[in-house]
Amino acid sequence: MFKTGQLLTLSVHSLTDKGDGIASHDGKPVYVAGALPGDEVEAIVTLAKPRYAQAELRRVLAPASGRCADFCPHTACGGCQLRVMDYTAQCALKRGLLLAALEERGLNCPVGDILGMSEPFHYRNKAQFAVQPGPSIGFYAKHSHRLVEIEQCRVQAPVTAEITALVRQWMRDQAVPAFNEAHHSGCVRYVMVRDGVHSGELMVVLVVAEEPAEEALAALVERLIHVPGMASVQLCLNGAAGNRILSEQVRTLWGENTISDTLGELQFDISALSFYQINPRQTETLYREAVRLAALSGTETVFDLYSGIGTISLFLAPHAAHVHGIELVPEAVADAERNAVRNGIANVSFHCGAAELRVAELYRQGVTADVVVVDPPRKGCDEQLLNTLAEMRPARLVYVSCNPKSLARDAAWLNEHGFTLAGATPVDMFPHTMHVETVALFTRAS
Ligand code: SAH
Repeated sequence: MFKTGQLLTLSVHSLTDKGDGIASHDGKPVYVAGALPGDEVEAIVTLAKPRYAQAELRRVLAPASGRCADFCPHTACGGCQLRVMDYTAQCALKRGLLLAALEERGLNCPVGDILGMSEPFHYRNKAQFAVQPGPSIGFYAKHSHRLVEIEQCRVQAPVTAEITALVRQWMRDQAVPAFNEAHHSGCVRYVMVRDGVHSGELMVVLVVAEEPAEEALAALVERLIHVPGMASVQLCLNGAAGNRILSEQVRTLWGENTISDTLGELQFDISALSFYQINPRQTETLYREAVRLAALSGTETVFDLYSGIGTISLFLAPHAAHVHGIELVPEAVADAERNAVRNGIANVSFHCGAAELRVAELYRQGVTADVVVVDPPRKGCDEQLLNTLAEMRPARLVYVSCNPKSLARDAAWLNEHGFTLAGATPVDMFPHTMHVETVALFTRAS
């Protein structure tokens, strides 16, 4: 039996999906945040349960080979789970997670080296800082809504530090209160910053529970417009309870409604509410790999399923006869259509609806694909969709996945239905976190 306060000496053998170390004590798992596979640690039990325990890391007795110094002074922040693992070890870990997921399903295929970043810092183009009374501006601690004040975040754009400092000072000077979650009172809830990595344009969205006075807003704008690259200052009114950051009530206080950015050769307009890939440099790497695996000659009809704002469709279009993008969210479909026009690409059509239904419908109407690309959410593809694809028999299927487990499940299904898993390559979209992105290719003989 575990006891709270008990001191344990543990050998950590693996990580949970959330990045906590897992060790075994008397045959039962002990979870230790901040411990890495290969570490020998001393930890103190903080939660004792009959079947498992949680323990707090006290001391590393013998470090894992990939252990490094923490790159960030904000030790309590829950943002980067792999911050004490060096980047080479992180990449090896992620490739290993993909291999393990495939192996668990009895799948065997060539797995490429992970496509990692040469500079795995400051890669995010969107920061969503929470604001709490103080005013404190930062990110939440692991598994909680306890705010950790952040001075400078190594994965966000450096300019975000300047912006949060300006907002903090503005709140003090203008006596604009932070939102108080417990009492559901006060004003400022979040500060969102988006930056066009290639355009250098910046957007700030101040999320408030109630409208600040017009003079106070004018004073905020006056401070923000001096930040180099500032292109858009927006106010979002969100008085609703819950964890949703933005509401639909967004208005421009100053500048443009959107900022622009480029991915490869393509231009995109990004509004406060639109979805856009978070790590644009790695997105290009991911999409280029997907286009390479699609091996298009210019004559093919292609389906891009779960197409979002149409980015993959537009990357594929110059190499195909026609691309059909299918996406569930109507706003994303509208963005995709706008993006096609903005880039002068005419051989794409976007369809709104669930991929599992729309593909079946298109297939019944006699529209079939030679090549299919899928990029589903974490839960993977719906079996109904896979059934239609098995009937349709495209020559190639490129599977972009954000979850090795659902990829492996779908791969096992596809393998039993005439497709061959020809290879998979992990791509590191989110350094220092447990996220693993993969591009896999399925072929079929006929
Ligand atoms: N390919 C895009 C988006 C991938 S994210 C990109 O690279 O940016 C996954 C997308 O699938 C989201 O846009 C989500 O809205 C959409 N989605 C979720 N379930 C879906 C379904 N059943 N059918 C179609 N799209 C779906």
